[in-house]
Amino acid sequence: MNSNSSALHDLVASKLESAGQVYTQKRRALVEALLNAGPCTLPELLLSGEDIAQSSAYRNLTVLEEMGVGRRLVHYGEYGRWELSEELTGHHHHLVCHSCDVIIDVELPTHIEHLMDEEFERAAKGSKFAVDRHNIDIVGTCANCQETTQA
Ligand SMILES: [Zn+2]
Ligand SMILES: [Zn+2]
Repeated sequence: MNSNSSALHDLVASKLESAGQVYTQKRRALVEALLNAGPCTLPELLLSGEDIAQSSAYRNLTVLEEMGVGRRLVHYGEYGRWELSEELTGHHHHLVCHSCDVIIDVELPTHIEHLMDEEFERAAKGSKFAVDRHNIDIVGTCANCQETTQA
């Protein structure tokens, strides 16, 4: 475990503790798997090599979501995908493959993020809408699926 990941686990532990929750070994394994794998489904988490029990995984993911540690991604496929919250990993966007539903994290340059936020404020102003944050997916076809269709 590198120092980044131990700092992240400390942060998660203190978030859970302050809400009266225990950072159990099973929850720690889920956070470690999400940290290493990026956005993934429950079946993928179970195959991650971390010691994750199928019986408690969904319940623990829900607790992590309620605590602001995990985030369930709304998307287009059969399975929900989970990732760590942006508070822990930083703001980013998602490449979403409409063929296999894989999700890949991408970051944009800070000045582009600022420009987008300014434009969103401007666009929302007419509706007297108060903007908190933006949440933008980029939809297309992943490298694997492009290969499959060309073969
Ligand atoms: Zn993400
Ligand atoms: Zn953004």
